[in-house]
Formats: sequence, structure tokens, C-alpha cells
Amino acid sequence: MKAEPIKNVVIVGGGTAGWMTAAALATVSQRTGLRIELIESDAIGTVGVGEATIPPIAQFNTLLGLDEAAFLSATEGTFKLGIEFRDWVRLGHSYMHPFGSYGRDMEALRFYQLWLRAQSIEPTPPLGTFCLSEVAARRNRFALPSRDPGDVLSSLAYAYHFDAGLYARFLRRHAEERGVVRTEARITGVSQDGETGFVESVVLDDGREIIGDLFIDCSGFRGLLIEEAMQAGYESWAHWLPCDRAVAAPCARTEPLLPYTQATARDAGWQWRIPLQHRTGNGYVYSSAHLGREDAEGALLSSLPGEPTGELRHLRFETGRRRRMWEGNVVAIGLSAGFLEPLESTSIHLIQTAIHKLIALFPDQRFAPIERDEFNRLMALQFEQVRDFLILHYIQTERRDTAFWRDVTAAEPPESLKRRIELFSSKGRIFRHQDELFDEDNWLAVLWGQGVRPSGYDPMTDGLPPQDLFRMLAGMHRSIERTADAMPQHAAFVSRYCPGT
Ligand code: FAD
Repeated sequence: MKAEPIKNVVIVGGGTAGWMTAAALATVSQRTGLRIELIESDAIGTVGVGEATIPPIAQFNTLLGLDEAAFLSATEGTFKLGIEFRDWVRLGHSYMHPFGSYGRDMEALRFYQLWLRAQSIEPTPPLGTFCLSEVAARRNRFALPSRDPGDVLSSLAYAYHFDAGLYARFLRRHAEERGVVRTEARITGVSQDGETGFVESVVLDDGREIIGDLFIDCSGFRGLLIEEAMQAGYESWAHWLPCDRAVAAPCARTEPLLPYTQATARDAGWQWRIPLQHRTGNGYVYSSAHLGREDAEGALLSSLPGEPTGELRHLRFETGRRRRMWEGNVVAIGLSAGFLEPLESTSIHLIQTAIHKLIALFPDQRFAPIERDEFNRLMALQFEQVRDFLILHYIQTERRDTAFWRDVTAAEPPESLKRRIELFSSKGRIFRHQDELFDEDNWLAVLWGQGVRPSGYDPMTDGLPPQDLFRMLAGMHRSIERTADAMPQHAAFVSRYCPGT
């Protein structure tokens, strides 16, 4: 027997998570009769940060049918080829985590294994010089990737930097054009079924009651429905990732317009720099156990690359995840589901992943527990995999120069991460687990970048004669250099392709 479909979806919150969810659900549910209402409170406002992304965001934009140039113009966006990590291994050190692949594999032999073997014979050009995204980023160049797999330009991968406030506005227009109803009000109460605990309605400050079948909690850190009503619980990861505060300050646009994010390690955390067309985003993510609010402000302001252009913004958080992100008829998406510091720009991606999984497991009125459990299992895994990737940056470092670095390096890493580091340390082995976000090239960039050095390499590569190996590497190196040199400057590309408004 066919169960009754969901007819009313209520989205609580209109930050990036709320509007991304509304826009995606409205797009995929056209002609199904699904009614979507989003409630947000201007008085409460949004987090208002979250400006750097990673390449899979292109899939989300495709789902919405967005025109890339229009989207970037509307959000003052720029292109992002990776993240430069400065001072993470030791003061003065820098490496890049580029998007896109390193070199070319040879049949079953991975490029980085071939490169490791070459390294063991004689010094070769650095790993990063075999990745077009990194070479282009270091020269401030950008072009769209080629669709021809034979062209080196096809190995380029990119994401975006954009203004979070303008992005939410852009998505809101998209969602409202597709029938999403927006209600501006503060939610003051939640009514639940006495037996099942399912949320039946939310009560607004003007006395109105909004009923729904499915509630999506995008209310931010507090988790208005998932925690305050459903008490789903929170698993803290603060013992591994102790940063729990951020102070953010925009400043004037800086030149050159970098096609990458910068993350600079500091005394008690790290600082981001995100280049947009109309300004530069900056923020210091720090541990309040190691640094006071005023000192964090001072450290940020004294290192801004341009004139401050807006108010300082202070944020508090606890790294971790909601124990159950789907409970009853409430699904948490965004900061209400958990928080991982923006070191690898993963939060918006985790929103996108939750939306995709919710669409794939969209319930009917029966709310099959197996579908809820699968959502919770898959999302927990996604959060844990990103968590391990972040911890890697903190534990594989020579830094012991402040109490923060001594404390953070003393923590025992999770077993899952220990295994990865050990595998890489022996013969450079890297494996992507399940539908993990980060692939072998991402892990390679950060393992190598943070200074982990394998003691050997894949013995299968010994079948290739050294002269062929070096000829192949030299050829790749040359074609990457040539391709990067032919690309336009990032700023010139942006002003032609997607000028801000
Ligand atoms: P919010 O923006 O907090 O929105 C919550 C919404 O709920 C608001 O509309 C609010 O009005 C509404 N609301 C709450 N309570 C009520 C109520 N009672 N009644 C009515 N409405 C209510 N992510 C990235 O991907 N890249 C980054 O570079 C990045 N940088 C970050 C830097 C920092 C310091 C922080 C803290 C986060 C960063 N993030 C980043 C994460 C990103 O900002 C968030 O994932 C994203 O903004 C989603 O937030 P949200 O929509 O879940 O919550």
C-alpha cells in the first residue's frame, strides 16, 4: 500500500543552509505539489560568514540550473584553485593544497607513486609543480578547464569564493521564483505530538502557528528543533580541535586578486584570507583557552592586508556533530547539524551533501526508520572523515612554540587517522574510503605538505625503466608550465567573465 506523501515542508532558518535547502527542494519537487515554507528572523540574523568553497559546489549549482557567470557576478565571486597553508609546519614554511590532480596515472600505476620512485633515485621537481591548479594559483592565473581529456587544462579543478550574504540573497530569489513561501518572524514555541515526539507545528511571535509534515532545522548553532525540541545530543570533538571562537573583519580588496584562499597558522589558531571582487574576507579562528578576545582582535587587526571596511564579528562554536541529525520528522542541515572549523572550507559542502542525501532518502508519512538511520550513518561518516582531515593539519607539525601548539600536538589522533598516516608513511599508500569527500590527491597534498615522508614506494613502479620514468615526468612538467603560462591573469579573467555589480 502506498503511503501518504509529505505535503508540507517547513524550513526553520534562512542562512546559507536554509536557502540552499529551499532552493534545491523547490527545484527537484516542481509539479509534485510539495509546499515549502521557510521561516527566518531578521532580528536574529545569520552567521554571515562562509565564503570559501570546494569544487563539488559546481554539482549543486548544476542541480539548481544556475548560470555560473551570473551567480559569480551577483555574489562578487572569484575563483579558487586551492588553499595555501602558511606557517603550519614551521614559521616561514608554506604549501598548497590545490584542487585538481597531480600528473597523470600510467595504467594501474598512480602518478604520485611514480613520482615517489623518481624521488628515491634523484631529486625531481617538487610535487606541486605537477599539478596545474597549483602552478596556475602560484602565478595568479585562471582559465576554465578544458573538456578534452587529452588536454592538460582538463586537469584543472576549481571552486569559488563569494559573499555569503549575497549568496543567500541569490538563492532566496531562486527559491521564491519556484514557489517557496518566506515568512519573516521569530519562532517562540514548538508543539510536539505527545506520543511520538514528532514536531507538529512551530509557533511564531505574532501568535501564528505553522504546521508541517517534515521540518528541516537550519536554525544555526542552537539547533532550535533538533536539540531544543528533539534532544538529539551533541558529540564534541573539542579535545582534537580546540578552536572555539572566531573574530572576522572584512577589509578592502587586495591586489593581486589571488585565485586561492590563504590559511595562516597563528599563536592560538589560524587566520583566513579570502579574496572577493569587492573586498577581502579575514578572520582569526582561535582557542579561547589560549587567547583572549581582545588579543585575538588585536592580532587580526594588526595583520589585515588592507583598510578594514566593516564591523568586527565575534563567533563562538564547539567542534563536533549532532549525534542524530535526523530525528523523528526533523532533519538538521547546516550549523544545527554540527560544526567543523573552516580550515578546508567544508561546511557549505556538508550542507550540500545533507541536501543530496535527504533528496535521495526523501520520506513519506511513514518516516521509515531505515531511511532515517541511513541518513544519520552516512552523514556521521562524512563529518568524521572531514574531522580526520582537519586534525591532520594540527598534529603533523614541528610547531611547539606556543602553549596552543604544544597542547594540540599532544592529543592522541583518532584510530582512523593514525592508520592513514601509518599507511602513507610506509609506502605512500592512500585509500579513499566509501563516498568520502577528499580523494587520494587531497590526502596526498596535505600529508606531504605537512611533512609526512614515506619510507618507500609502490614496488610495482619498478617495472618502468628509469629513463622512461624521467622522460615522462619531464614531459608532464613542460606541458603544465606551458599551459599555465598561456592562462590569463585571474583578475583579468574575472573582470571579463563575471564582473561584480
Ligand atoms: P545561520 O547562518 O546561523 O542561520 C540560522 C538561521 O536561523 C537564520 O536565518 C536565523 O534568523 C534563523 N533562526 C534562528 N533562530 C530562529 C528563531 N527562533 N526564529 C526564526 N528564525 C530563527 N563554511 C564554508 O563552507 N566556508 C567557509 O569559508 C566558512 N567559514 C566560516 C567561518 C566561521 C568563523 C564560521 C563560524 C563558519 C564558517 N563557515 C564556512 C560555515 C558557514 O558559515 C555555515 O555553514 C553556513 O553559513 C550555514 O549557516 P546556517 O544557515 O546553518 O546558520
